[in-house]
Amino acid sequence: MSEPNNISFIREMFSDFYSKNADKIEPPKSIENREFGFSLFKENVMVRHKSFARIEDLRDFIKKNVPSNVYYSSAYYSFPEAKMDEKGWLGSDLFFDIDADHIPTKCNKMHDSWACKSCNFEGRGKAPEKCPNCGGESFDERTWPCEVCLEAARVETIKLIDILLEDFGLSADEIKCSFSGHRGYHVGVESDIVLELDALSRKEIVDYITGTGIDAVFHGLDEIRSGSSKIIVGPSLDDPGWRGRAARGTYDFLLRASASELKSLGIKKNVVMELVEKRDAILESWRRGGPWNTVRGLGIKGWGKIIQRGASLQSANIDTVVTVDIHRLIRLPGTLHGKTGLLKISFPVSRVEEFDPQKEAIAFKAGEVKVYVEEAPELRFGDEIFGPFKSQAVTLPTQVAIFLLCKGAARVVD
Ligand SMILES: [Zn+2]
Ligand SMILES: [Zn+2]
Repeated sequence: MSEPNNISFIREMFSDFYSKNADKIEPPKSIENREFGFSLFKENVMVRHKSFARIEDLRDFIKKNVPSNVYYSSAYYSFPEAKMDEKGWLGSDLFFDIDADHIPTKCNKMHDSWACKSCNFEGRGKAPEKCPNCGGESFDERTWPCEVCLEAARVETIKLIDILLEDFGLSADEIKCSFSGHRGYHVGVESDIVLELDALSRKEIVDYITGTGIDAVFHGLDEIRSGSSKIIVGPSLDDPGWRGRAARGTYDFLLRASASELKSLGIKKNVVMELVEKRDAILESWRRGGPWNTVRGLGIKGWGKIIQRGASLQSANIDTVVTVDIHRLIRLPGTLHGKTGLLKISFPVSRVEEFDPQKEAIAFKAGEVKVYVEEAPELRFGDEIFGPFKSQAVTLPTQVAIFLLCKGAARVVD
């Protein structure tokens, strides 16, 4: 079958799904004030500036039009259907996007690939800024939601949620968590406290969460005189806010750091040797709130570098552009992702550690489809592993087949 046939097959499956599962489509808070956007299978057009007074109207629209992707605005508007500058912005949820695209995992070089749109030159991993062959700047990228990448995204999500709960004082029921349907997680805060924050205020929040500009000397790292000698003191493990985070991150880092990792921070070899040797004693001293200067030749500057590294482990790797954008369109929970055929699905914050996207986001649970797969890495769906595949016809459970078709890695076989 050719490409258009693939698309009509996927559309048919999406249509079937929505006709039976429209009740899964979740209404956002104050639906009447939200702008909706849809991309359609036909010609890949984007329809925006739609609004719906009731969830039933939205569900009917989706059933009738079968979009490939469904989005809603993080913003609330007086007139959601008006032109951008005439909508009457009323406020916006605080929204975070965590995607494996922004997390440097080692496996992306194994499973992700790109091809230059001008000259078809191909490579592995993340696409470069410029094509090494022709200098072109536009690429077709194929990324995969592998287990390691999804796990990396989960770790960042957990750190983000911890900051929102502990440092920002939000409660768990003000935070909405969801799997994006592809390679990451979405975290939204729906609360009057965040509603009217402008882009600049949201940038401040981004800086806090990413630990931007954290300098240990402003967070308890100090040199104090004690008689004729000097003592270095640092933040405590149980300090609130970034002090405690920096201390805990440094603790975790030192617990595991290799000599070469410490050297790469610009610390002298003999100092590194002593640090590694005294590691246990240092960590024990911190646990008791003791001084930090147990290593000769390691002063405020050296400790500053180590703490910097430790703090970076505590920051959450979010897509900063998304959070600052107060007009952002976001995929609607309970709808299908057009590039995977998986569900965007929300879950309570308390389930973030156990949530299994490769099981719970499965939308197509019955039947099998025969496809010809060009190339795909090993993938898990539910409890089963599929692939790797290379130039072969194979009969797969519907969800796996649809996933590969949506990815453009396979075609339907009659
Ligand atoms: Zn090129
Ligand atoms: Zn991966």
